[in-house]
Amino acid sequence: MDEKKTARYYELLERMIDEMSVTDGYDRTKIVDVVKGICELFRLTKAETEFYRSEAFKKRGEVERISDYDNGKSGRLAMQRRMVSKTGSSVISSVYMEEGDELTPDEEAKVDILLRTMVSFIARNRLQNAIEQLGFHDEEGYPNMRSFMRFLDKLGLEGKMREYTACCFNLRRFGLVNQQFGREVGDLVIKKYFNILKGIIGEKGHVIRMGGDNFAAIFKSELTDQVIEVFKGVAVTYEPGTQKRVLISSAAGLYKITDDFGEQSPRSIMDMIFPTMHTAKSETNGTIVYYDEQMVAMRDHTMHVREIFPKAIKNGEFHVFYQPKVDVTWGKLVGAEALCRWFHDGRIVPPMEFIPVLEQNTDICKLDYLMLEMVCKDLRRWLDMGRRVVRVSVNLSRKNLTDVDLLDNIIEIVDRYEIPHEFIEIELTETTTDVAFRDLKRVVTGLEEVGIATAVDDFGIGYSSLTLLQDIPWKVLKIDRSFLPADEEKVVSKNHMMFKHVVSMAREIGLECVTEGVETKKQVMILRKNHCHVAQGFFFDKPMPVEEFEGRIDKPMYDLSHLSEEWRFKADEGPAREKV
Ligand code: C2E
Ligand code: MG
Ligand code: MG
Repeated sequence: MDEKKTARYYELLERMIDEMSVTDGYDRTKIVDVVKGICELFRLTKAETEFYRSEAFKKRGEVERISDYDNGKSGRLAMQRRMVSKTGSSVISSVYMEEGDELTPDEEAKVDILLRTMVSFIARNRLQNAIEQLGFHDEEGYPNMRSFMRFLDKLGLEGKMREYTACCFNLRRFGLVNQQFGREVGDLVIKKYFNILKGIIGEKGHVIRMGGDNFAAIFKSELTDQVIEVFKGVAVTYEPGTQKRVLISSAAGLYKITDDFGEQSPRSIMDMIFPTMHTAKSETNGTIVYYDEQMVAMRDHTMHVREIFPKAIKNGEFHVFYQPKVDVTWGKLVGAEALCRWFHDGRIVPPMEFIPVLEQNTDICKLDYLMLEMVCKDLRRWLDMGRRVVRVSVNLSRKNLTDVDLLDNIIEIVDRYEIPHEFIEIELTETTTDVAFRDLKRVVTGLEEVGIATAVDDFGIGYSSLTLLQDIPWKVLKIDRSFLPADEEKVVSKNHMMFKHVVSMAREIGLECVTEGVETKKQVMILRKNHCHVAQGFFFDKPMPVEEFEGRIDKPMYDLSHLSEEWRFKADEGPAREKV
């Protein structure tokens, strides 16, 4: 080979090494260009390099062509070099020449070097890909958590975290898709949904699968709206060639990375978005939830309460407080509501801090039974002492309604303490679904049949429906305090009207009426004017410990002499009475 040709050869070899040394994937067109130069230099008609992932791939003819060049003139195989790895993957590089033409020994040595270089570079590069594939992808080919952490670390190093939003998401009711269409279709649908999101995020972030139908993503915050659209739901075709589609949506917990994130390790983002997704999954705050500290505090509180509840029950930390119900005409104690108080760590925890937590599972049922039992115990003691006893109402969470033994259990407790049924009342709140409505009707009817009174609690908040009053044989209607007009409201206000009509309707269908949250003299007057005879509220008494309430039983009359002359006059008139 002359000097010029030799110089060209070294130039091409150098270029080939350069192009193949690029770490993040090489540029195919540049390599083909080098290969073309080589072919021209050595009179080769064709050059090809094939990669087979394994023996099985080779048998099936599944080839990956790395650098083809063909000048169109056919030829014979002039040289071939191959490399087979321990895992069975192989690279084969071949060059062809026109029939009759031959490489000189010098040329042959140079082409040999070129082919060997090519083969070893490809083998190494593919190996790198295989490592990447194995280490940063799961068995189904989705990028995995390790790749997510690598992305976060990179953003952290570049100081770009603040431009991003991170999230975890879970496909909603995906089990149903699997059930309905089978696992294979399920997998395909997941892949498509994943790819839709990946298509939106592209180079501006990273999406991974954490396992099952749980995923995580980090993306430039400017994409948030588009990403949320995907979470809200997209139709995914599940049968190639048809228009058959299924709507896929996600429950997602998001965290827009703020300046405050500061010094924290990028990896701590996971600690924020993962639990947020769980909140989104529970759907208590919607299915798209943003991380905020209050929510975290709530979650910690929930976990704490759940954890210590069994011990608290065992230690007798729950107590009954009684709040009197008073006849507003005569100022006489006519009943009481049992309200739960938790004595814990030297303070009294109000129900709002633990009842909603216990209502998330069936723990509340245990507490409700305990309350009923403690009330029965008190009633038994009063009866044994010959005290005058009033009807006591016990709150029962809706959670109890699905329990088929509920009725029997209530009656068993009441009868075990030999409490005449007329002294027990069960307060239940309204329900929203048809199924729950049926359960509610069954339980209330059953209780009424055995002479245990029932009350609709908190009427007026939520979905108060007239069907609820019409179709279920309640004894008492408890009007929520939100219905009660405030002192400054005019008599013609909407609240006044509503209150008036709710009371008169309840009376007409034969319900006893109790108004909750009566705090002022004026409100007492409103009750009386509208013929709602029973009040429960701070005007008379706050919920009180049992010893204090016993004092009330023994002295059941309230002193109403401080009420106005007008009041006393009307009270003396004595309106039509209801038995409470
Ligand atoms: P509820 O059944 O509607 O009970 C009435 C609530 O109103 C009580 O709150 C009572 O203290 C409060 N209240 C009474 N009069 C007034 C007033 O004049 N003004 C104001 N602002 N509030 C008044 P509490 O004791 O904090 O209980 C809250 C809720 O927790 C109860 O609402 C009930 O839904 C639930 N709860 C309490 N004890 C139990 C229980 O043993 N089991 C179940 N399942 N729920 C319970
Ligand atoms: Mg109640
Ligand atoms: Mg209430």
